[in-house]
Amino acid sequence: MDTVSTPEPQSDLLQKSVDNREKERKAVTPKRRVYCSSSPLVEFLNPLEKVQVRVGENAQLHCSFRSLGRTAFCWIHNRKKLVVDGERTHIESSSNSSILTISEVFAADAGSYSLFVRNQRGTAQHTIILNIRDRPERPASCPFVSQLTPSSLVLSWCGPSYDGGSAVTNYVVEIQSLGPSDTRDWTELTSTCKDTTYRVCSGLHPQGEYRFRVRACNDMGISDPSEESDCIKMDTAGRENLSFVDVVIDTTHKVKDHYNIHEKLGVGKFGQVFRLTHKETGRVCAGKFYRAIVSKDKEAARKEIELMKQLHHPKLVQCLGAYDIRSEITMIMEYVAGGELFERIVDEHFEHTEPNSMQYMRQILEGIQYIHRKSIVHLDLKPENIVCVNSVGTLIKIIDFGLARKLEPGKPLMVMHGTPEFVAPEVIHFEPVDLAADMWSIGVICYILLSGESPFQGSSDSETLALVTAASWEFNSEFDDITDEAKDFICKLLKKEKRARMSCEQALAHAWMASSSSSRRVTKSLNKDKMRRFLVRQKWQKTGNAVLALKRMAHLSHRSDGSESPSMSMSEQAVASLEQQLRSQPSFPQTFHDLTEPCGATVYMACVIQGYPNPEVVWLLDDEPLEETERLQIQYKEDGLCTLTLAQVQPEDSGIYKCCASNYLGQALCSARLTVAR
Ligand code: ADP
Repeated sequence: MDTVSTPEPQSDLLQKSVDNREKERKAVTPKRRVYCSSSPLVEFLNPLEKVQVRVGENAQLHCSFRSLGRTAFCWIHNRKKLVVDGERTHIESSSNSSILTISEVFAADAGSYSLFVRNQRGTAQHTIILNIRDRPERPASCPFVSQLTPSSLVLSWCGPSYDGGSAVTNYVVEIQSLGPSDTRDWTELTSTCKDTTYRVCSGLHPQGEYRFRVRACNDMGISDPSEESDCIKMDTAGRENLSFVDVVIDTTHKVKDHYNIHEKLGVGKFGQVFRLTHKETGRVCAGKFYRAIVSKDKEAARKEIELMKQLHHPKLVQCLGAYDIRSEITMIMEYVAGGELFERIVDEHFEHTEPNSMQYMRQILEGIQYIHRKSIVHLDLKPENIVCVNSVGTLIKIIDFGLARKLEPGKPLMVMHGTPEFVAPEVIHFEPVDLAADMWSIGVICYILLSGESPFQGSSDSETLALVTAASWEFNSEFDDITDEAKDFICKLLKKEKRARMSCEQALAHAWMASSSSSRRVTKSLNKDKMRRFLVRQKWQKTGNAVLALKRMAHLSHRSDGSESPSMSMSEQAVASLEQQLRSQPSFPQTFHDLTEPCGATVYMACVIQGYPNPEVVWLLDDEPLEETERLQIQYKEDGLCTLTLAQVQPEDSGIYKCCASNYLGQALCSARLTVAR
């Protein structure tokens, strides 16, 4: 028996290893390894899916697997090749397992850890999520103050941007008194606040000055304190809040001269809204900074301010002032702290019943009745423009009068704007609109409030508009438990013919509005799941462009030319390098031996071949390539075992049998003599 291994191309070897009979030799097809299609590429054994540790502890990610032949592997952390520094990160591997240990973990270690295993058949991976639990980060904003009275106020803040790996359970609210005789110590107002809003209604003095800060808690501990609020003067702000302000448009100052500008509260059609605090009084307000470069936009901004100046009603957001200097137009409004009504309703701690819904509808009607009495039509009533005064009660306000118009006698008003799901049929038909257009939208809002579904939502804007123009709607199954009064209320608003719709006065006098005191009061909790879906869809529609951009990004990161985004290529490169690690020229860890067999016997010669890429195999007898026949079978299996079986051997079969394995890295031979006794 002999084995030879040479790092030379196959053609050279064959020329050298074959004698001068080569020219007469028939070409044979080399044998390739056959894989059993049902066997897995790599079998991960009871793999961990998730590992959870506390910050500062050691994390051990263990992955065992079964893989055939030579195997190479690497760990990828969050799409980047894991850097093993030997100090904190340590990998212990064998041919069928890899254990990644990270000592004294911190937050940045969290994420996905993928073990890529490469063998001759390809690459497989298993991902383990490492969740690191810590106390939360501090709340992302300081507490903002709203609804100041001489002795109470409402604080609202943003939760932490990272919850530490387990949900925030409560907030601690702290106060600092700034009076001349105060110690400036921080004291705890509450440690059981479950929400990002808190009403402070005791311990505040009408002349007092205070600062506030908050901390977030989870089951791992309590965060550092948030930034401190501005200094709040109870006295000044309280008096200021008692009456509606007579709005003066300031054309000589900039907003910044009087207000500190803080974080963005929202983005709308006409500009951005920021939280502001008055430099002297500390009063918190909202400032709408109009995107008004061209004169048409400036005109629209001034129109909204002029209109808002006339509106003084507790159910409507109050305009407090305005700045109009060069191209900067800003409207100062009272700050409404509680967020969108529908967002609040879907909160699991919030009670959502038919009587509650009726209360909201009543408040919307009260606010709209006020503007309708002034012949103003809102024209953009929809859930996102109904906001909560705070996060504890059920008081709401209507915001965004950007599309509102004053009706002038004898001047028909035609508009072509609004949101398809909420606009009345006459708007789509470009017919004259009046106050009844708002009543239709109120009907749509009521329908969604009670069922979570939008009555006219089609699969596209044009389908929605077609359903609206046909006034085609019905009560879905969510209305099975809703009172007949509520259903009648909706029916009397969603009338195609605008004159047939109820007015605000009629709606406020409707039997449903009186039903809260009746004995048939329904307090069953309404299903919030559909409303959650409605909100998700609304957000998607709002971020339509962003979503498209995201899709483009995703598309780009899987470009057909194979180029990848930078972070992808790092992991791709690491995985590709596994392939290089596997590369080896052919070798024979196991070979066959010289044999002497009687005539008629079946001879079996077996060897094991290694090498990557998988070597191709040719068997030779006395340097003559052998072809498979009925009597001669060659098998080459996935584990590298290569066999030659020769049945009914005859003396002419005697000679030197060689197995020649080659890949582009080189080749190897093993041989043995078969003697068939006569
Ligand atoms: P636009 O008229 O440009 O569409 P909006 O008036 O709807 O703008 O305001 C955009 C967003 O800003 C709102 O959805 C809301 O989140 C926020 N916002 C507006 N006004 C206030 C306010 N007075 N208090 C708190 N947030 C507000």
